[in-house]
Amino acid sequence: MANFKRAESEAIKTLSDMQISTAPVDPEAIAEAMGVDVIYAEFQPPFDDQVSGFIRFEPDAQIVVNSKIHPKRKTFTIAHELAHFIMHSEYAKSGEYKVLPRRNSYVGVKPPEEREADAFAANLLVPESMLKAYKGVASVSELATLFAVSEQVIVNRLNHIERCKA
Ligand SMILES: [Zn+2]
Repeated sequence: MANFKRAESEAIKTLSDMQISTAPVDPEAIAEAMGVDVIYAEFQPPFDDQVSGFIRFEPDAQIVVNSKIHPKRKTFTIAHELAHFIMHSEYAKSGEYKVLPRRNSYVGVKPPEEREADAFAANLLVPESMLKAYKGVASVSELATLFAVSEQVIVNRLNHIERCKA
């Protein structure tokens, strides 16, 4: 089962370790500070249309991002793969590991590690504490610009905070 609480606390811990308290969060800088190289590559067809990115561990930890995807999707991809580095190295080194599809759709059931990585990415890029400071002041589109994520990520985070209030 996916452990979303752990994903959230790992994201908060990462931001605190890196002394980041303002948006936008730059996951590439965080990855590099952790010794994970981030590179942009031109993927061959059909992968260029299918894959956002992946992480590999040999010879050194490296996040490979599809250079064709939208900048906001790149940011999310790096944050997502960084979650695998922090939380799921065994999984990410295994045959079970799934690269991140561009439309975030999986064949069959989405593995719990993938759902945790999405939760980590959302919490890293749009921390609840920062989002609450702007909630009701800025529109969804303004928030998306401020946090450098898609509007969908903002909507998901706002819904999450609403749900968890009770
Ligand atoms: Zn993944």
